[in-house]
Amino acid sequence: MTAKLIKGTDIREEILEEIAAEVKEIKDKKGVVPGLVTILVGEDPASMSYVTLKIKTADRLGFKEIQENQPTTISEADLLALIDKYNKDDSIHGILVQLPLPDHIDDKKILNAIDPDKDVDGFHPVNVGRLMIGGSEVKFAPCTPAGIQEMIVRAGVETSGAEVVVVGRSNIVGKPIANMMVQKGPGANATVTIVHTRTKDLASHCKRADILIVAAGVPGLVKPEWIKPGACVIDVGVNRVGEKVSEKTGKNVAILRGDVDFDAAKEIAGSITPVPGGVGPMTITMLMKNTLSSMKYKLGMM
Ligand code: NAP
Repeated sequence: MTAKLIKGTDIREEILEEIAAEVKEIKDKKGVVPGLVTILVGEDPASMSYVTLKIKTADRLGFKEIQENQPTTISEADLLALIDKYNKDDSIHGILVQLPLPDHIDDKKILNAIDPDKDVDGFHPVNVGRLMIGGSEVKFAPCTPAGIQEMIVRAGVETSGAEVVVVGRSNIVGKPIANMMVQKGPGANATVTIVHTRTKDLASHCKRADILIVAAGVPGLVKPEWIKPGACVIDVGVNRVGEKVSEKTGKNVAILRGDVDFDAAKEIAGSITPVPGGVGPMTITMLMKNTLSSMKYKLGMM
């Protein structure tokens, strides 16, 4: 059996086209566009390339995008003042602070200073609480879990009554996706188990999963024999396992592997996400969707 590939690269294009069409329609009718500010402190290369991709995507969709590059020497007070400025700016619907921040700045204090109604990353405690309550309380689901749920739904995988097993309990992936899948409503209604490093017999849990979501950060953790035949496997893991020379650019690039032994797993699963090109492209896509939603909440359209 060869599993159906759930490609994040294709689903991203579908969703971005939908967002762009909606942005144009709202702009034509109401003269407003979604506004997103990205705050980057310092010059961490990974953060810089991630932020560049966010800006490019926002520009392509016709958003108003403001890039705030700040030196690593910025004080916590000045960063808080910058957030306050954008909290009060009516043309800005989403504020994103790129992590990590320098050691002299308290991440929690900064993230908690963002107006929860502009917290398009969905990390503010108010949005975590809204997500836990579920239904119409939810404003912004965190982007990676939102992307995972969207992929499952768009791949046509039945979630109602499904056994979902989530490997990993982080605040950014494991816990929120488990919480989302257990809610009452479309794309959810599942029976959910979360497993982690203290779980006894990881294999036995994974084996009963109709939908197996793996976010551990351990290359090849999930063995093919742990996969139920026909299951949907979502591999969130992105692990650098070496370097190779790119055929396109001639430069050294990272070799990436997921948390699942993909080649063997695809012969057993019903559907599976590749790494790279699976969950990865969905995160920025859902950030854009959250920013559009934020504007629609403000306009009373949602
Ligand atoms: P994290 O904060 O390090 O959490 C990893 C979780 O996996 C922890 O709960 C840990 O358990 C569990 N775990 C680790 N090793 C395990 C093992 N051998 N058996 C069972 N459970 C194990 O990681 P994260 O931020 O959630 O990220 C997970 C992976 O997803 C990483 O590879 C990351 O790069 C990737 N990721 C990708 C995207 C994207 O594609 N857009 C976004 C976010 C993350 P304990 O709690 O017991 O330690």
